[in-house]
Amino acid sequence: MPVVNRIADFSADMTRWRQYLHTIPELEFECHETAAFVAERLREFGVDELHEGIAKTGMVAIINGQGDGPTIGLRADMDALPITEETGVDYASQNPGKMHACGHDGHTTMLLGAARYLAETRNFSGRVALIFQPAEEDGGGAGVMVEEGIMDRFDISQVYALHNAPGFAEGTFYTTPGPIMAAVDTFEVHIQGVGGHGAMPHETRDPVMAACGIAQAIQTIVSRNHYALDDLVVSVTQIHTGTVNNVIPDTAYINGTVRTFDPNVQQMVMRRMAEIVEGQAKSYGVEARLEYNVDYPATINDAEKAGFATEVAREISGDDRVTGNTGREMGAEDFSYMLQKRPGAYLFLGQGEGAGLHHPKYNFNDEIAPVGASFFARIVEKAQPLS
Ligand SMILES: [Zn+2]
Ligand SMILES: [Zn+2]
Repeated sequence: MPVVNRIADFSADMTRWRQYLHTIPELEFECHETAAFVAERLREFGVDELHEGIAKTGMVAIINGQGDGPTIGLRADMDALPITEETGVDYASQNPGKMHACGHDGHTTMLLGAARYLAETRNFSGRVALIFQPAEEDGGGAGVMVEEGIMDRFDISQVYALHNAPGFAEGTFYTTPGPIMAAVDTFEVHIQGVGGHGAMPHETRDPVMAACGIAQAIQTIVSRNHYALDDLVVSVTQIHTGTVNNVIPDTAYINGTVRTFDPNVQQMVMRRMAEIVEGQAKSYGVEARLEYNVDYPATINDAEKAGFATEVAREISGDDRVTGNTGREMGAEDFSYMLQKRPGAYLFLGQGEGAGLHHPKYNFNDEIAPVGASFFARIVEKAQPLS
């Protein structure tokens, strides 16, 4: 792969950083040790400014290029997942029950690699803002950094981010103009019935049957209420109730997720879910309370920036290894909050075969770190060339 030569030269260092970060996975906003390691490297590279403590453990580093120009933003996420690691690697998680199962250790490393190169070479005009965020998996750290004003404070004009993709050929890139990742909402239904003896159901108001009815009826939102060509997923992912075979319980609990791209579809789901929960509860003679939580918005690439990022990716990986119109998928990503504020693009970087994201046997492929770092470096040099 024609990665930037200078970055290839220090790829062994990147592997060391990544494998060290892999040993210290941290959750949500509590990325203290990770942030300390990142800050230490950035100081070592000689970045011009380092602003720590944004969104608790996030930070923005500034590298000045040569001459005036805009500021381009590059973002990496640093947080891990509450999963017990099963990779068996000798640099496995040392924090029990926590694991880098989404490759954010690799994302952080790729942006550090770009930082080292850009601080060393400075073959660009204007400035680059390196954004290291906590709480991508849960908590919306990108949204908090945006709320804390990073876009205006650092005068960022455009933003880019990468996510590794298991199951796609090593070093290939995928992106698309417009929507790439869905908006994610979650819902919970708390059902209150009246329990009793399993042999005397007529004396109860059975929350088990109500839960089954509600879970089934919710599925008709997709199959009966929305236009078939619009994107929509409604998944019931948990039903909890009861403890033994001869007792009808008092309560039941349902939980699930909704994925959409169009705010009108999202509004329709919210309205229909409320109607279904209320109507079904009435028909089963129980009480049900719906909690509907609107979470990350859809991730929407700027068409022109996605095209530009595709060009840069082709320079690095070759024309036939980059797909510029991959289409959208129903996963979600909090980089969406940054793309709401500034034009930019989100790309997937293939990392070859192996366990999927969020699997206890997943591991980031160190071979793609120089590819991602080269992409970040070249996007800066190409967007803001020396005059
Ligand atoms: Zn993830
Ligand atoms: Zn991730």
